[in-house]
Amino acid sequence: MKVFLFTVVLAGALLHGAPASAQDKGSVDPKPLPPLANPDDPKNPAKDLFGRKLTPANMQARAIGFYSRGCLAGGMALPVNGKNWQVMRLSRNRNWGHPDLIAFLERLADKAPKAGWNGLLVGDLAQARGGPMMTGHASHQVGLDADIWLTPMPNRELTRREREEMMATNVVRADKLDVDPNIWTPAHVGIIKAAAEDPLVERILVNAAIKKALCRDARGDRSWLHKVRPWYWHNYHFHIRIGCPKDSPSCKPQPPTTESEGCGAELAYWFQPKIIAPPEPASDRPRKHMTLSALPAECRQVLVAE
Ligand SMILES: [Zn+2]
Repeated sequence: MKVFLFTVVLAGALLHGAPASAQDKGSVDPKPLPPLANPDDPKNPAKDLFGRKLTPANMQARAIGFYSRGCLAGGMALPVNGKNWQVMRLSRNRNWGHPDLIAFLERLADKAPKAGWNGLLVGDLAQARGGPMMTGHASHQVGLDADIWLTPMPNRELTRREREEMMATNVVRADKLDVDPNIWTPAHVGIIKAAAEDPLVERILVNAAIKKALCRDARGDRSWLHKVRPWYWHNYHFHIRIGCPKDSPSCKPQPPTTESEGCGAELAYWFQPKIIAPPEPASDRPRKHMTLSALPAECRQVLVAE
């Protein structure tokens, strides 16, 4: 239990301030951010610097730092259309990742039809050089995190506008105690299982109601269940996190999940009244923004690189 509480507190530190931002609509004609008045001011929030870098650092690919405090060298783009995937919210320019993440997503898309899932609608990965973002996530900074919509891909290519304005499917019932049986399907179990079974994947974050459904619905081998952890929100998409790549010595790993399925007391924790209805994160809440000096020193090179 002690280990579990520690995990929850640690994860809380990592992910608070990460609502279901896949639901924010984008624009087919996004306006570039205005240049910073004082780009060299050390007090500039790092998100203002990384949020203005639209192309990757031309360096050898490396994930640098921790999922919620780091950056990405040599980022690779996931093509916006693939055999079994389409990238959503193109205006966000967040389809960048470490090559291991891109390779993983292509593998998962390949397996999707066998899992009963038509294809992936891909939400945010990372910015071109990773780092903190202007909106949304606390993590997704090192190119090892990916959000996948809980909506299967339609059998046609979505238009630019649809990719900005279409909404993902909330699979959780209004009382948050379970999934909506009219929406939840065996294919949802299949695609989450297929992702969890990939050896590169270390953890997957889902709403507690989804974890409950997986605990109930998983058939046969259940050894993948321990990687799927309950978390706030995550009722429209699931969040996949892969481990530190071999080529990234300064990537800081997260302690592994416990080996238990997490279907007993750990899951019950999430259905206590005060946990199940966390206060909505206020968007105008004053947040402490990390500056470049809070990130690993190598992130300076990533920022200034060609
Ligand atoms: Zn995410």
